[in-house]
Amino acid sequence: MRLLVVEDEEDLAEGLRVGLSRNGYAVDVATGVAQAHDRLTVNEYDLMLLDVNLPDGDGFELCRALRTGALVTPGEADVRVLMLTARGALDDRVRGLDEGADDYLVKPFALAELLARIRALLRRDTNGGTARLVVGDLELDTARHTVTLAGARLALTPKEFGVLEYLMTRPDHVVASEELLEHVWDANADPFTQTVRVTVGTLRRKLGEGWIETVVGRGYRLTGS
Ligand code: CA
Repeated sequence: MRLLVVEDEEDLAEGLRVGLSRNGYAVDVATGVAQAHDRLTVNEYDLMLLDVNLPDGDGFELCRALRTGALVTPGEADVRVLMLTARGALDDRVRGLDEGADDYLVKPFALAELLARIRALLRRDTNGGTARLVVGDLELDTARHTVTLAGARLALTPKEFGVLEYLMTRPDHVVASEELLEHVWDANADPFTQTVRVTVGTLRRKLGEGWIETVVGRGYRLTGS
């Protein structure tokens, strides 16, 4: 899953980028409203972490632009918005939710809580509200970051995990390489490399025959056995 962190405090932004990347997310950072605007119009994000006070505006206006359609994003699904608000600023929290934010977190916060909130928002409409994705005898636990096949644990790299998670939220759908690149890799990924094909290849070997089908010219499909 791909996240946009909109935060002007450099240390916090970098800490979030590192912490979230370690947990398997593809992360881009924007340090202000204008940069966030640019990234949102180009890349498909699953979720945005949005600071309220930014040097060139505030998070509320960005959230409103997203929700009213003034800012058009390339993806089909709505970008989830988790606002990061100052301690005790009740007005900020209420206003954030009124402007269309999905949730808020008060600074300072623990990474563990942030991760739990992110998982809850991302699974809201894909996993039927649970932390586990199940397709046949394949199970992926988004909270524990584990994958089992017929009860046996699979050791996956973060990118293999990300690709599998994305495919498992869309079983039997053909997912294009470009879509995987958008949602599993960050802005530093080179779209002309074979990185998606290579990652799908190693994932396919670990899963064994019959799970990931290549649909020539269109992409990949998780077939469910
Ligand atoms: Ca700020």
